[in-house]
Amino acid sequence: MFTLSSSSTTLLDRLTDEILSFYENPPAVVPQVTAEQIRTHLKAFDFGRPMDAEQVFEKVQYMMRNWNVQITHPRYFGLYNPAPLLTAVIAESLAAVYNPQMAAWSHAPAANEIERHTLRFIAGKIGLPLDTLACNFTSGGSEANHSAVLVALAHCFPAILEDGLWALTQRPIIYASELAHNSFDKIVKHTGLGLDALRIVPVDDSLQMDVNALRILVKQDQNAGRKPFMVVGTAGITATGTIDPLAAIADLCRQFDLWFHVDAAWAGAAVFSDTLLPTLAGIEQADSVTVDAHKWFNLTMGAGMFFTRYAISNARAFNVRADYMPPSEEEVTVPYLSTMQWSRRFIGLKLFMALAELGEEQIARMIEYQCRLGDYFRERLEQEGWIIVNTTPLPVINFTHPRIRSGTASVDEVLSKLYAEGDAWISSVTLRSEKVFRMCVTNFKTTHSDIDSLMHQLNRLIE
Ligand SMILES: *Cc1c(COP(=O)(O)O)cnc(C)c1O
Repeated sequence: MFTLSSSSTTLLDRLTDEILSFYENPPAVVPQVTAEQIRTHLKAFDFGRPMDAEQVFEKVQYMMRNWNVQITHPRYFGLYNPAPLLTAVIAESLAAVYNPQMAAWSHAPAANEIERHTLRFIAGKIGLPLDTLACNFTSGGSEANHSAVLVALAHCFPAILEDGLWALTQRPIIYASELAHNSFDKIVKHTGLGLDALRIVPVDDSLQMDVNALRILVKQDQNAGRKPFMVVGTAGITATGTIDPLAAIADLCRQFDLWFHVDAAWAGAAVFSDTLLPTLAGIEQADSVTVDAHKWFNLTMGAGMFFTRYAISNARAFNVRADYMPPSEEEVTVPYLSTMQWSRRFIGLKLFMALAELGEEQIARMIEYQCRLGDYFRERLEQEGWIIVNTTPLPVINFTHPRIRSGTASVDEVLSKLYAEGDAWISSVTLRSEKVFRMCVTNFKTTHSDIDSLMHQLNRLIE
């Protein structure tokens, strides 16, 4: 027998301590560190001889606490990276302990059925039809968006599954707004469609996809002999938090026989809230939907979800024959035959446990609370003479200041001072050729006093 020496009980105690203390008390938001510093530190790990496990633990702890942007901090007002619920951390550990192989249903019946149960509940909240549904967990929104393009291609052009894009006499075209997520740039490259197949639709004054412009582009492409096949509407634009007019896009897709995909990576969680649900109207008409569980459901990375109302096209896109795999059963969905990944970890457990433990009402409250904090920040900005440049019910605020518009201060200067102080993190985006700040509340642990503290800091830094 091969035995490994390690003081596992002590290490597990330390792990528990670290989970709780980091959760309650994360360190400074922004690190001050260079790559050189970290690389020098890592030279101690030459992997030549074994190192004491507790010492390894401590070194990792030191690096992670001091040299990362702490996205779980209540004053990380950044990208769509929330603080995970404690349940998620526990679920991750359990998934690691059992390490079920999800690829074959017959290897992991319990884990696969837990995921199916969870996904079908979310699909029901979105309003998708359960009888023809295919759904799976993904590494994140990018993989879910990639799945959507693959299934849309299989649905609209079945011949390409045998002959590839050579089968087509007309060039397939995808439409997405100028503010859509850049994962689509990668996806059109990876699928062989090419960047020229991604038509960029302008946004209107409210930063939502301009559906009239979309209509004109589709007609232009048709007249030029190209083949429009897919439109991406975004619910929760990464830069601005805006929601494209999903119902109007759905109508247009029906009129022109186009696949309608909704990228709701962050804002999809809003389907839990009765007050926010109307802002997503139209999502229930989607042919496919992306939602990230590791964004607004406050779970650990990586956990995306992909849904499509066309299970048959989904099966066509991903089905393969592999003699070394266990035989598949007819009445169940087999992940390796219906998704992009093969061996895969138990991604869905954390969403299952969070839903079970909190109940849907509390998830709704958690999201609505963050929206109210966003509204509070808008109020504070206006009181203090700042200028808000986007409109959305969701807690993403793009703003600037008269001193920046007049050229006596700059967004980059303010941000570099903010990062040097290390107490909060916001970012910047360029909208209509103007660089502005981007602040997002995406952490249920953030409070009104965290918002006040950011406001004071910004007032001080702009002077
Ligand atoms: C975050 C995001 C993505 C990418 O998702 P990952 O989970 O990072 O792969 C795609 N679309 C939108 C709108 C997003 O906000």
